[in-house]
Amino acid sequence: MHTSQRLQEEIHAQARRDTLTDAYNRRALIEFADKEWSRSVRHDYPLSILSVDIDHFKTFNDQHGHQTGDIALVQVSKAAQAALRSNDIWCRYGGEEFIALLPNTTKDQAMAVAERLRQAVETTMISSPHGSLSVSVSIGVAERSSNHSSLSEVLAISDAALYRAKAAGRNRVFADGD
Ligand code: GH3
Ligand code: MG
Ligand code: MG
Repeated sequence: MHTSQRLQEEIHAQARRDTLTDAYNRRALIEFADKEWSRSVRHDYPLSILSVDIDHFKTFNDQHGHQTGDIALVQVSKAAQAALRSNDIWCRYGGEEFIALLPNTTKDQAMAVAERLRQAVETTMISSPHGSLSVSVSIGVAERSSNHSSLSEVLAISDAALYRAKAAGRNRVFADGD
């Protein structure tokens, strides 16, 4: 392969990554989602989504500083990603909110993945100049159904479930209908 071609591929790969956490960025999620959505509809495969948001992260920043907040974001992202399976897509959607796109996964299976992810974050010791810290996440789960016409509809449902998980006390997993 020519150096210029390799360089171009490297630039393209970097354009799909969040610079802080190295998770996929929003733009990459949209690309993946388009592809997975079509596959899911065409073959009638299940497709689920997790909306993941760090709990009380403003307070964490206020107490430990923004730089330590950045360290936490990196370590939480890494721990969460390690709890996912190889075909799952982990994306920093913005700020302290992440989305996992789970191809070939029903809502019940997605709930199990979400619970594993929640526990992985809860038990992660974040090493920082302020010593060992921890955070938790709340998660909303939703599965595509035949009456949805786009990913944004499913995202609205997982966001609503996330909101209920927050209201119920945080550090928990809620699904559509809970
Ligand atoms: P909740 O449990 O309801 O989600 O509370 P919260 O404090 O996490 O939610 P809120 O949306 O009020 O605050 C989000 C915080 O996340 C505030 C913002 O400073 C912080 N944040 C967002 N992006 C970054 C970042 O890149 N680095 C750091 N250190 N903090 C960030
Ligand atoms: Mg938050
Ligand atoms: Mg948030």
